[in-house]
Amino acid sequence: MKIAVYVDTGVMEIREIPTPRPKENEVLVKISYCGICGSDIHQVQYGMEEPGDMMMGHEGTGIVAEIGKRVEGWREGDRVIVRRTRRCDKCWHCRNGLPQMCTTKLWTSNGEYAEYVTCTTEHLYPLPDELSLQAAALWNPLTNAIHGVQLSRQKMADFVVALGAGPIGLLTIAAAKRAGAFPILVTEIQPKRAAAALKLGALRVLNPIEDDVMGACTEVKECGADVVYDCAGGAGTLQEAIQYARCGGQVILLGIHMEFFQFSTLLWVMKQVDVQAAFGTTSQLPIAVEMLRDGTVRAEDVITNVIPLDDLPAMMKKLFGPNDEIKVLVQP
Ligand SMILES: [Zn+2]
Ligand SMILES: [Zn+2]
Repeated sequence: MKIAVYVDTGVMEIREIPTPRPKENEVLVKISYCGICGSDIHQVQYGMEEPGDMMMGHEGTGIVAEIGKRVEGWREGDRVIVRRTRRCDKCWHCRNGLPQMCTTKLWTSNGEYAEYVTCTTEHLYPLPDELSLQAAALWNPLTNAIHGVQLSRQKMADFVVALGAGPIGLLTIAAAKRAGAFPILVTEIQPKRAAAALKLGALRVLNPIEDDVMGACTEVKECGADVVYDCAGGAGTLQEAIQYARCGGQVILLGIHMEFFQFSTLLWVMKQVDVQAAFGTTSQLPIAVEMLRDGTVRAEDVITNVIPLDDLPAMMKKLFGPNDEIKVLVQP
């Protein structure tokens, strides 16, 4: 089968490897779609510790193609989400409410930028008939976004600002709106993403370079936003987030910035803003699947491109810099 492999900083390659065989307690899944995650782009662009990594791709959906002898409750043809890692339920993190940081994760046979994976059934999550395998491929960024909103103190009719309308930003807007945020202001430079932000629930999208974002915030609420979601992970966006938050407000940090940057703690302290980081997903799959099924998130507003596996190395390079994509899916 074909698989995309991380070779070296900036370089991915398509290789041919033997198709994995399911053990007695495993299933073989034919991957239908796998979203290209921002974290994968970072890892390829900035380099990974272990070259030759075959574990890339963790946002897959697919169809069960073969069942191990001792597997019960699943059939060939079942449509599923494939979680690349599975919590161990034994380590300190799993026992203390941080399963996304599990230190002894159990993995699928290989990453999901591949034609097939084998895994135990604990990696699988069933899809309802009405939800397409393509739309369901948004499950991973959506669960991350929902997790961010769950970690906030956001209440009904709270004024929310979201910085950045990439996949995580857009899905955070949808999740914040579903949780009752109003109004939602968004900052975004790229026109396609700005237009999508309006579809997913933003009242207004501002250009952070040209527009007076602070002025727009104080127009809504004298002191600023109740909750600011930093989904951009830019060098200056955490500073901006603290600026747009009201005194005693909250910043939820979802975006990651890979380089050092200058930062002043002055406003952070003087406004007594609470900065809460949000990482990964814990138990958000049922609501994520429901939001995709019931139309809270229309996948076509977020997915801008579906590419064959062969095109992944070139697409990765395109996604390193400014580009006109939002979410790109690989169809192995
Ligand atoms: Zn992801
Ligand atoms: Zn664990």
